[in-house]
Amino acid sequence: MRFAPELRLFVEAGRRGGWSSVTTDGASTLGHVVESLGVPLTEVGRLVVNGRDTPVSHVPGPGEAVRVCAVTRPQRVPGAPLRFLLDVHLGTLARRLRLLGVDAAYENADIGDAALATLSATERRVLLSRDRGLLRRRELWAGAYVYSDQPDEQLRDVLGRFAPPLVPWSRCTACNGPLAAADKSEVLERLAGGTRRTYEVFARCTVCGQVYWRGAHHSRLSGIVEDALREFGGPGDAVRGGDGVVAAERVPAGPRDDDGSEGARSEPPRASDSRATGKSK
Ligand SMILES: [Zn+2]
Repeated sequence: MRFAPELRLFVEAGRRGGWSSVTTDGASTLGHVVESLGVPLTEVGRLVVNGRDTPVSHVPGPGEAVRVCAVTRPQRVPGAPLRFLLDVHLGTLARRLRLLGVDAAYENADIGDAALATLSATERRVLLSRDRGLLRRRELWAGAYVYSDQPDEQLRDVLGRFAPPLVPWSRCTACNGPLAAADKSEVLERLAGGTRRTYEVFARCTVCGQVYWRGAHHSRLSGIVEDALREFGGPGDAVRGGDGVVAAERVPAGPRDDDGSEGARSEPPRASDSRATGKSK
């Protein structure tokens, strides 16, 4: 058996160099054998046995040469619109995907592997995780391993792998809800004096009511957006907004405390994508 370079991090050192032999029980499927060697099947593309493409259900026999390929990029996920579900450790990645308008569900609380995998199935979302055990769960509808622990690299990994359409500034970074343009008069009572005087263009989340505007953190967020569009925004993924529904900062709305909604997450504190507190300067 020989693993594609992209998959070698999953297998023990002795199998990383090239061909290595595997002893099977004569009854297990190829999918099971590959998984038992540490490679999540979510990461496996073609399985080539003696030069022929072969399904995971194949039961390998003596002397067969099996090449295990990585998924091809961009990877298509048939069966539902492309949407994601992120595990509890990927909060920063979730907010960055939302910033780009990618549907990225994320639970603050650790609801457990079984519940997360089931949620992936009921909502037909691609589960993103760095937890191989989670990606092996049978309930899972679709999943993908996130290869880096750095948010910048994680974002590039997911955008490169799935090529989701990018519609920056169209989604609430706090709750994943769609944003809509808001008249200043509608949001006025939520704004501090400085913000009232300085800004004219506002957007509001249609789900949680969070108010957004272009504030002090806008240039940093714009950098993330521009980098993503430059590398992954194909023709047709025009930056929507301009002077329309576009905003970056947010004010805490109602009972949702701005920092409280983020604080339970496991990333290091940073001037984070949606943590832009919008408290007037
Ligand atoms: Zn929201």
